[in-house]
Amino acid sequence: MDVFFLGTGAGMPAKLRNVTSIALKLLEERGSVWLFDAGEATQHQILHTSIKPRRIEKIFVTHLHGDHIYGLPGLLSSRSFQGGETEVTVYGPKGIRDFLQISLSISQTYLKYLLKVVEIEEGIVFEDEQFSVEARLLDHGIMSYGYRVAEKDRPGTLLADKLKEAGVQPGPIFKKIKDGETVTLEDGRVIEPNEYLGPSQKGRVVTILGDTRFCENAIFLAKGADLLVHEATFAKGEDQLAFDYFHSTTHQAAEVAKQAEAKQLCLTHISSRYDRHAWRELVKEAAEIFPNTDIAEDFKEINIPLKGEKHLP
Ligand SMILES: [Zn+2]
Ligand SMILES: [Zn+2]
Repeated sequence: MDVFFLGTGAGMPAKLRNVTSIALKLLEERGSVWLFDAGEATQHQILHTSIKPRRIEKIFVTHLHGDHIYGLPGLLSSRSFQGGETEVTVYGPKGIRDFLQISLSISQTYLKYLLKVVEIEEGIVFEDEQFSVEARLLDHGIMSYGYRVAEKDRPGTLLADKLKEAGVQPGPIFKKIKDGETVTLEDGRVIEPNEYLGPSQKGRVVTILGDTRFCENAIFLAKGADLLVHEATFAKGEDQLAFDYFHSTTHQAAEVAKQAEAKQLCLTHISSRYDRHAWRELVKEAAEIFPNTDIAEDFKEINIPLKGEKHLP
């Protein structure tokens, strides 16, 4: 599970930062990539990475400002030419369906795969046996959602050797025990699954928010998250600017991470008024409130290790 930043700037493309798009790479988990927003030229950014557009399974749109969606029609269209045949689902606020339908129909774009569009409301917007994705409204003048991606806990690995020592032979019984079923053997012995399973694997949580002012729903979505991706359009002290334009400062993003007791914070959606030198300052500011803070750059990747696993250097 890795978070890969394709675009990390605010408002318009800049030389050092393209507009917003974030990929959640779930290659080991489900062989796919989920995108969060697709600002203009997201497909160009993808060309410089190992991400395969045909692997994109879901796209979660936070809000309908141009810097978050202008890259969608082109990306979806190119995916057809790049061997994409599997279904794609786009989740987003009301209006995303019109935007896609009109862009694709006026340009006479015909996709070779099924495109599903889900106009979401607050709550669980997707759930399967592996993941759940919950959306909540933030505070951005236009409807803007944050997403909490929660991996489900995985049952522990089967202690096959221990079972064999107990005289249980491999077969369908092993699967039952692995699935947590209590099994009665032919000789009447009862096998409790807990005794033959390793410790269960805690699921990871990644919270990716759309543009927003400081707000309670951001804290709600980020509760205990392994990684919170929060916008920080402005430096500390620019509270008035941030408020007027419905954005956050570094301090506000850090305050959300702190109150949510997130494990790690990554700042993104950085205004082009800040140069490379200033980026370091932005991180320092946030770290005054929430020490484990980093700043996104285009093509930066953050690995979210399994719990108990060590961070690779
Ligand atoms: Zn934006
Ligand atoms: Zn916006």
